[in-house]
Amino acid sequence: MKIAVLPGDGIGTEIVAEAVKVLDVLELKFEMESALVGGAAYEAHGHPLPEATLKLAKESDAVLFGAVGDWKYDKLDRPLRPEQAILGLRKNLGLFANFRPAICYEQLVDASSLKPELIAGLDILIIRELTGDIYFGQPRGRRTAVDGHFPGAEEAFDTMRYSRPEVERIARVAFEAARKRSKRVTSVDKANVLETFQFWKDIVTEVGKEYPDVELDHMYVDNAAMQLVKAPKKFDVVVTGNMFGDILSDEAAMLTGSIGMLPSASLNSSNQGLYEPSHGSAPDIAGKGVANPLATILSAAMMLRFSLNQPEAADRIESAVKDVLASGLRTGDIWSEGTKRVGTREMGDAVVAAITKKTITG
Ligand code: NAD
Repeated sequence: MKIAVLPGDGIGTEIVAEAVKVLDVLELKFEMESALVGGAAYEAHGHPLPEATLKLAKESDAVLFGAVGDWKYDKLDRPLRPEQAILGLRKNLGLFANFRPAICYEQLVDASSLKPELIAGLDILIIRELTGDIYFGQPRGRRTAVDGHFPGAEEAFDTMRYSRPEVERIARVAFEAARKRSKRVTSVDKANVLETFQFWKDIVTEVGKEYPDVELDHMYVDNAAMQLVKAPKKFDVVVTGNMFGDILSDEAAMLTGSIGMLPSASLNSSNQGLYEPSHGSAPDIAGKGVANPLATILSAAMMLRFSLNQPEAADRIESAVKDVLASGLRTGDIWSEGTKRVGTREMGDAVVAAITKKTITG
């Protein structure tokens, strides 16, 4: 098994180093190879996703990704901006299913802006379709309106579209994921207004018949946005399209209070995946040794579970993270009165120590 390690920019290098340290201590049999991506790759090779990096990603079973971007690249032509590396990897690896768990750790209940009773024990999984929808539909552009409310005026337009195979495959991913959890799927749409999402709803319902053991319900996206803050624990697996998923997964992430805790995975049909924290490269704290590495360490756990078929090793990491939080260690983003503030490296070391201790004591 091979892992491509792509730390990227800003805090990416600091947090990925901690995840690699945690993977190393597990003593599993896999090879790790690093390459430049994002702004770092642009500086060295003139492109955010150089051929060699893409080749490494393609021939690996999984990609462990840090983060890319910095404000200083905002003036570059769009194809050369660091963020294009993520889009390039998604496209070239055919990553169509984005998994964003939102878990509220007992010790971090106060970090949420919601009342503790609404959030304690929260464990939901948002599955977002990544390759279709209005983000990629053609045609799109600007033109002079020939009809509508203001004929003759300048207008812009995008196209929302989904094909049957695209909806079928993401629906299957959601039902399969639900089978490993509490067997409930909520499909989020806007079928009352959009043809594309009536089609989506019909197909998810059809696919659902292949999974009689999984309970399926449907919810309009506006209601889902409300329910996520009103009663988030009602949800288990949520599956939705690219645009609604983009918004709802950030909303769900914020329920837990800290972006530094949230892993994510993007998978293709052969379970090859890209694993990254949900946050960005945090240029404001880069190089200071204060970033929270736990989202990246938890992304490595997801990688072991989904792409490398090592569920026990994934459990060990997740349980070590819980132990470290229970011991009161916190990076600045999750720090509160009465806990001990530590830096990126100390947090990584603490997770390694928790894994080693469990190994020794059995
Ligand atoms: P960001 O997620 O990088 O930072 C938002 C805030 O959260 C900042 O105050 C930052 O210090 C804090 N933060 C983020 N991760 C943290 C961590 N692990 N520990 C502690 N604090 C953390 O978002 P932004 O500031 O909007 O974007 C910064 C750069 O990252 C931009 O160039 C943006 O394009 C890029 N970005 C990249 C990705 C990605 O690589 N997938 C995602 C989002 C943003």
